[in-house]
Amino acid sequence: MSPAVRFVNVSRRFGSVRAVDGVTIDIVEGEFFAMLGPSGSGKTTCLRLIAGFEQPDEGHIEIFGETAEGVPPYRRNVNTVFQDYALFPHMTVGENVAYGLMIKGVGRADREAKARDALAMVKLAGYEERRPAQLSGGQRQRVALSRALVNGPKVLLLDEPLGALDLKLREQMQEELKALQKELGITFVFVTHDQGEALSMANRVAIFNEGKIVQVGSPADVYERPRSRFVADFVGSSNVLSPAFAAGHAGAAKWTSLRPEKIGVVPSGTPVPAAHAHADGEVKTISYQGAVTRLGVAAEDMRIIAELPAGAAPLKEGDSVRLIWPRSAMVTMEDGA
Ligand code: ATP
Repeated sequence: MSPAVRFVNVSRRFGSVRAVDGVTIDIVEGEFFAMLGPSGSGKTTCLRLIAGFEQPDEGHIEIFGETAEGVPPYRRNVNTVFQDYALFPHMTVGENVAYGLMIKGVGRADREAKARDALAMVKLAGYEERRPAQLSGGQRQRVALSRALVNGPKVLLLDEPLGALDLKLREQMQEELKALQKELGITFVFVTHDQGEALSMANRVAIFNEGKIVQVGSPADVYERPRSRFVADFVGSSNVLSPAFAAGHAGAAKWTSLRPEKIGVVPSGTPVPAAHAHADGEVKTISYQGAVTRLGVAAEDMRIIAELPAGAAPLKEGDSVRLIWPRSAMVTMEDGA
């Protein structure tokens, strides 16, 4: 089966900026695929290349096995939900949703019925006559979503669609988007710089840096087995151990990632269990974060971050502690950059 979207060595330059730099990826039909990376790393440009708003300078793009170069956006069976929603303020919700169908020449009764269905999909049945200004931010976002869905796309492109919502609403919409994607079974390609959002929603995540995909895998894969310091730091936070430190603590002489939540903090001198490594150090910083407390511990030449669950025995700056962690929690990486 052809992938929904295939990039083969795709590059897009703007002047001297390589916005997308030699990207090769297959996005499988029916998956929820997240593009995650810092601002300016090329995610939106990739989305625009899929949509047909941009053309590659090099490489090749296929959508369901067909060459995409030269095919205009409206012939691609792909629709985009933009972060700013781009709703027409002078039109009703129903007209906004039906607009694309009207342009395509679909008759009034047919497009009104389709718009109603598309609004029901996003739980906005009965809102047809309102205007965008009479809706909350979350409702506007749903209208934008249903305006894309009404066209029956095989691939839905979402560019930071939850960026403008407050945290609570964001979390609710994350759940709903995930459920909707499951129900519809169409391919979602989702751009975000929020790692929590990418990990919680996607089947697979591509991590972008400077126009390149530096790692791609399931959320658990990229979190548990980061291949570089960039990924270890960007997806959650991690302790990146130098080759020398790792080798001195039962690891390999390689750059190594050790997640803070894998580290236990015990009194100095506590015996170390089998298959564990340890380091002795002094608490330098304590940061209360509600569910956990983060400790910065100076151990030899490293500052190691460990997390204590809420309610753990209180510690203070200057306390001597022993850090212990399972050896299996040390993940070697390909590079320390
Ligand atoms: P963000 O999360 O901020 O949207 P992004 O990862 O989506 O970032 P892109 O928008 O793809 O990044 O931009 C990648 C690079 O290409 C940036 O350096 C950006 O300034 C540049 N760029 C994007 N579009 C254009 C354009 N039309 N003209 C010139 N430079 C552009």
